[in-house]
Amino acid sequence: MKRKLVTLLLASSLALSMSGCKGTAENTPQTEPTEAPAELPAEEVPEPTEEAPADVVDEGALITTGGKPWIDSNLQENITEGMELSVKDDFHLYVNYDWLKNAEIEEGKTYVGAFSQASDATEEKALALLNDESLTGHDAELIQAYYKALMDWDARDAAGITPIEGTVEAIKAISTMDELSDFICDMDASYFVPVLTSPGNTLSYEDSESYITYINNDGLLLGDPAEYSERTEMGDRTYEANLALTKAMLTRLGYTEDEATAMFEDVIAFETKLAEVSLTSADAMSPDFIDKINNVYSPEELKELETTYPLTRYIEACGYGNADCYIVYEPAVIERINELYTEENLETIKNSMLIGYVTDMAPMLDNEAYDAYIEAGSIVDGSTGREDYSKVAASRVRGSLMTPMDRAYLERYDAAEKKERITKICEEVIDVYRDMLAEEEWLSDETRDLAIEKLDAIKINAVYPDKWTDYSKLDLNGLSLYECQKAITQFYWDQDLTHTNGKVDHEIWDFDILEANAYYNPQDNSINMILGLLEEPFYFDGITDEALMGSIGVVIGHEISHAFDTNGAQFDKYGNYSDWWTEEDYAAFMERADKLAAYYDGITVWEGQNVPGQNIQTEAIADITGMKAILKIAEGMEGFDYDKFFTAYAKVWHELNTREMEFYYCTQDSHPLSFLRTNVTLQQFDEFLETYDIQEGDNMYLAPEDRIMVW
Ligand SMILES: [Zn+2]
Repeated sequence: MKRKLVTLLLASSLALSMSGCKGTAENTPQTEPTEAPAELPAEEVPEPTEEAPADVVDEGALITTGGKPWIDSNLQENITEGMELSVKDDFHLYVNYDWLKNAEIEEGKTYVGAFSQASDATEEKALALLNDESLTGHDAELIQAYYKALMDWDARDAAGITPIEGTVEAIKAISTMDELSDFICDMDASYFVPVLTSPGNTLSYEDSESYITYINNDGLLLGDPAEYSERTEMGDRTYEANLALTKAMLTRLGYTEDEATAMFEDVIAFETKLAEVSLTSADAMSPDFIDKINNVYSPEELKELETTYPLTRYIEACGYGNADCYIVYEPAVIERINELYTEENLETIKNSMLIGYVTDMAPMLDNEAYDAYIEAGSIVDGSTGREDYSKVAASRVRGSLMTPMDRAYLERYDAAEKKERITKICEEVIDVYRDMLAEEEWLSDETRDLAIEKLDAIKINAVYPDKWTDYSKLDLNGLSLYECQKAITQFYWDQDLTHTNGKVDHEIWDFDILEANAYYNPQDNSINMILGLLEEPFYFDGITDEALMGSIGVVIGHEISHAFDTNGAQFDKYGNYSDWWTEEDYAAFMERADKLAAYYDGITVWEGQNVPGQNIQTEAIADITGMKAILKIAEGMEGFDYDKFFTAYAKVWHELNTREMEFYYCTQDSHPLSFLRTNVTLQQFDEFLETYDIQEGDNMYLAPEDRIMVW
């Protein structure tokens, strides 16, 4: 439910080979880009305003168009002393003014808000476990060994860049195309090196009970391929950041700054040719995205796709040669790779592998490399300073060793009561959705029946799973950091290989339950209300019913809505990719959704920047629908205090971002900016307008005929 704070931090370069067999260990190899919990983690970071570049946001610019004159209160420079506050004009600012004025984005972070507050609480508890020497058992051994390796700066500094030198030399030594292919297909030699493509197993779109082997192409240095044809400010910053990190790393490996710059530019030119045929971030947010990537190939067809690049040999070397079929996300990119895989481009491809490798590895090496990585990151996201590394290490342990961390955490901090309470609220919200769907006038009976069937089949994944992945074969004792990374990556890779042509065990949740977030997963029709979100301010001892409904209740309502949006409409109750809407109903849905997008289009965030309504359509629908569901529940609650409820809701969305990240969220994210999540959502409802006596002429007012409720 919170958006994905791209650790854009070189998202491209650092997450380059995240899928398939060559992921850096921080990314679990099974993750692939399209699989869906389309939500967002809030683990990011803050310090925003002081010296933000003036080209990002016009200083103090106010929103003055469309009868919705709200300032972008996610930017602290817009929150000034003695502002006039009005509950009727800007509810978000009214509720959160003091917090917005006084909150601070910590060193090394880009964000502060309710999600980071919850995240910090979990992190503190996780850190206590990682430092507790009295812990016993295999889970504790694993997480503490990895944590220790991360924290051992003496060893990291002593090793310097030696852990990567062997691979770097091997890349440099390649002198023919045959040698290049040999290198790519030699798993020992090319470990951690992005080699243009990567395979792995994922849930089949057509049969959510089965795995299918996918072939992905690696990410690009600038992230969104659209940046190669029309560069945005974010693209400029990402370019600058990657160049800086490349130079910092390559000069340590004996290259001059000029050589490093030339190599980088060479790679950007090469990637420009790949970007021409790649799917963009906008493609990924469009309703036909799955159609575009669901390209299933038989082994014979895959062979035909191969001309110059040793695709099938590489897939075999990775261990995926026995798959019954393959899903190739972007065949056009594979074809382009074939065209470019020539003698003429040999040095360029080597440069691409080299730069990808050394920039990926930078955060796992010594202080000098880590500082370069952090400095580069700050160019992209506007953060300043270096976050307390014990926190960084804790979150790395969480991300890389999810199950051992989760189990150790649950053993110490029992969550059985939370599980019971959250399950109940989920059931309650599902009940109310049944009524909402039944009452929906624009829906045909045919689609309505299927919608209710899907609703009834929703799987509630509350708080933590009951079944876990087996980590008994993983051993990290006595390993250096680089060795830990390799051992963890190898563990996930081996495990992933056992999934080839296999069945999915949906009882095992393959994601981090300590993240402050929530998900709907269309591929198994589940809502995932996980432990990490159940901290203050979302959940705490003594929270009132109204506040709980305004935080967790609305989140649950939001997630369920995703089962029925443009994305959810494409997956049936089993999670199979299958359109179950009638054409007329879908057209009616889209008409309503487009009205919502047009309304958002009309909102100016700062001079010259409007909200791209198409990008945030489904998430805005989910916000409004979630609110509607909870207000229906409130109707039946005696003495329900609406003021408490709406105030709690607005507090969930208080946040401050760096200007850089605010720009990114506004232009690239699928969620509305958080002050709009408060104001636009609430102004749709009579209960809200009545509670605060909001009338025509007030900025929070929206006439009934202008409202944008889809459901
Ligand atoms: Zn959502």
